[in-house]
Amino acid sequence: MIIKLSEIEEVFVARGSMEASRFAEIEDRSIQIITPVAYELTIRKFDNLVTIQGPVECTMSITCSRCLDDFTLELEASLDIKLTPRTKISRVSEVELKRDDMDIYYYEGDEIDLDPFIYEEVLLNVPIRPVCTENCKGLCPVCGKNKNVEDCQCDTATQTLLGEKLKSFLN
Ligand SMILES: [Zn+2]
Ligand SMILES: [Zn+2]
Repeated sequence: MIIKLSEIEEVFVARGSMEASRFAEIEDRSIQIITPVAYELTIRKFDNLVTIQGPVECTMSITCSRCLDDFTLELEASLDIKLTPRTKISRVSEVELKRDDMDIYYYEGDEIDLDPFIYEEVLLNVPIRPVCTENCKGLCPVCGKNKNVEDCQCDTATQTLLGEKLKSFLN
């Protein structure tokens, strides 16, 4: 969604959604976004400074990093950024600005496209090591069974490198 700053008095709420297909670059075999990405962003203007805040939500199918089962994850992110106009500020102050506040962005002219910020917010909030449940037991390293589904009788203690060496030594 593109917003026009000149049309905003002080506050404007941008409600909408982005089609899941727009996030194709995020997706791979382990991540699939299955609902449109919904947002409700409050845009405030303070002179030239613009703040954009609000929830960004979608549902994704993602692969558990322990048991390798796909599960459904409700992604609930919260966008919170500031934008200042891109002017001819010196490089020094630009560096200082970045150091002080990592969430400062720039805009040019009268329009701000919200989509890239929503895209980035989703990207930043995809878990790196997703787990289906906090106590997911994962896969058995010996037989490969999903231990959430079925308990196996494998003796995992002897499967360590040291265990293997001990076994061959004792034999
Ligand atoms: Zn799992
Ligand atoms: Zn096993």
